[in-house]
Amino acid sequence: MTHLDELLSLHREIEQCRRCPLWKTRKNAVPGEGSAVADVMFVGEAPGAREDEYGRPFVGRSGDLLTKLLAEIGLSRNDVFITSILKSHPPRNRPPIKLEIDACFPYLLKQFELIQPSVIVLLGSVAVSAVMGPWKMSDCHGRFYEGSDRVFFMTYHPAAALRFPEVREVMRTDFAILKTHLDQVAVISTGTDSES
Ligand code: SF4
Repeated sequence: MTHLDELLSLHREIEQCRRCPLWKTRKNAVPGEGSAVADVMFVGEAPGAREDEYGRPFVGRSGDLLTKLLAEIGLSRNDVFITSILKSHPPRNRPPIKLEIDACFPYLLKQFELIQPSVIVLLGSVAVSAVMGPWKMSDCHGRFYEGSDRVFFMTYHPAAALRFPEVREVMRTDFAILKTHLDQVAVISTGTDSES
């Protein structure tokens, strides 16, 4: 089985998942989408009502902003992989609870393992606290954290940037930092620096 087959099989499993009670109220599970060999993975909080309707991540206004921020650093949605901590929509957009995060987290870890991104971008406090532990967004945004086998980058959730224009500017700056890092990784992996 190729890693793409494994990823597709994982997503079929998520679509049938009943590990937490959210399966009862969702219309569609939202495993995630994008490149199965993406260098960068984006992890949000949970599907919203629109994502639940379409079974796709970040398709509402937050998604439009994320797509725009990606374009500003020269990336399209097809270049990256986009998912979230929870794969099913919490009713009335309430924040995820621990039981749901614990039940769903193994799917995210499996996606990390199969896609092997060079950077995992955690969008917002729910994603940061689920993966890294408690960390104030104002302290951790724009920063990388190098774990034993993964590199994480933290920034705000696009929904916060829709509510607060100043956060949108902070996200722009954070995405520019991310781009600088990706450019450096690209130079190292192609060996361009040693040829000059
Ligand atoms: S949120 Fe995750 S664990 Fe809960 S039903 Fe959906 S896919 Fe399963």
